[in-house]
Amino acid sequence: MDFDLTEEQESFRRTVREFAEEVVRPRAVEFDRTGEFPLDIVRRMGELGLFGIPFPEEWDGQGADLTTLCLAIEELGRVDSSVAITLEAGVGLGAMPIFLFGTQEQKRRWLPPLCRGEALGAFGLTEPGGGSDAGATRTTARLEGGEWVIDGSKAFITNSGTAITSLVIVTAVTGERPDGRKEISAIVVPAGTPGLTVGPSYRKLGWHASDTHELTFSNCRVPEDHLLGERGKGFSQFLRILDGGRVAIAALAVGLTQGCLDESVSYARERTAFGRPIGAFQALQFKLADMRVAVETARLATYRAAWLRDRGRPFTAEALIAKLHASEVAVAAAREAVQVHGGSGYIDDVPVARFYRDAKILEIGEGTSEIQRLLIARDLGLPDARS
Ligand SMILES: Cc1cc2nc3c(=O)[nH]c(=O)nc-3n(C[C@H](O)[C@H](O)[C@H](O)COP(=O)(O)OP(=O)(O)OC[C@H]3O[C@@H](n4cnc5c(N)ncnc54)[C@H](O)[C@@H]3O)c2cc1C
Repeated sequence: MDFDLTEEQESFRRTVREFAEEVVRPRAVEFDRTGEFPLDIVRRMGELGLFGIPFPEEWDGQGADLTTLCLAIEELGRVDSSVAITLEAGVGLGAMPIFLFGTQEQKRRWLPPLCRGEALGAFGLTEPGGGSDAGATRTTARLEGGEWVIDGSKAFITNSGTAITSLVIVTAVTGERPDGRKEISAIVVPAGTPGLTVGPSYRKLGWHASDTHELTFSNCRVPEDHLLGERGKGFSQFLRILDGGRVAIAALAVGLTQGCLDESVSYARERTAFGRPIGAFQALQFKLADMRVAVETARLATYRAAWLRDRGRPFTAEALIAKLHASEVAVAAAREAVQVHGGSGYIDDVPVARFYRDAKILEIGEGTSEIQRLLIARDLGLPDARS
């Protein structure tokens, strides 16, 4: 067994930590307050190569792996979740489907700017009518005169309305399967296509500077060759996308938990009460010890899932376990970090207050905790109550 990262991975981690400390940290409060999308920071992340980490150099990627992407997301998440999720979604949901399922022509057209961070892609799976029950997709796409005509809507789509958004991959019902179920396919819709309307930004509990919109498709037409991969494979495609995405969300949760621990330890050393630093009180020491256990176990689970994926081995169950555990410990750590800070922790510009607001979505996005548990139980061979 070898728990060491490679030299390249360690060096990448150091580079991203420096970037997070020097470039992201000083702006985090401002972006959280204004909700403005951090375009200049995203551009600099592009220059660092972050959006191309797991893609081959032939597409302007870095030729690295999922573990390295997790390290980058973790380091950004330690400082600011909005920036970290912009990277996670840009790579995992925007570019990855094109890389995994696209034709050579689709890759040639769309992948290089996504890998360079000059463009962002989005993935529209969730609908106003439901996210967990993806089989209930209502958005439709029908072939007419060599074009897909898309009608429907998608909810909460990350990176879908930025100034550099180039495309949205959208799942839609394209027919009926022989067993009577819906045939779902994925279609690439370039930004600005007539019939695609990007709704206003949501006012969210957290992730204020992450870009999230509702999308409406009304007689939205794209050429037939914008179908991504095989017709009818949309369901298995997004399950595959979510496997990697869950590991990356787990990495974001690990970063946030580490941020909670770091902020809490330094505050507990400085703040005094009853004539001594509050860190001398065992009640607080236990909170910090528990936070450390949480971050270390979540990190182990996350790296193991990424390690399996990087070796081409099955990792679906490990991704579910990492995502479930890391997101739940992040929410608990953020709650305790605010507690350690007392009243100051409730003041918005203090990092742990932002972490507290940013943490909750980790138990919801890319599969809720309930859905993770359900799938883990199914992996144990238990029957599926949904079918
Ligand atoms: C900020 C943000 C960004 C997002 N970004 C994207 C994105 O880029 N692309 C995208 O497609 N989606 C995105 N989402 C959507 C997200 O993935 C969904 O919100 C999530 O999957 C849950 O779906 P839902 O909101 O429809 O909840 P529902 O599916 O309606 O679930 C509601 C509750 O019921 C529970 N539940 C549902 N079914 C079961 C069951 N069978 N057993 C037990 N409990 C169940 C759920 O766990 C949950 O607690 C984003 C959401 C947010 C808030």
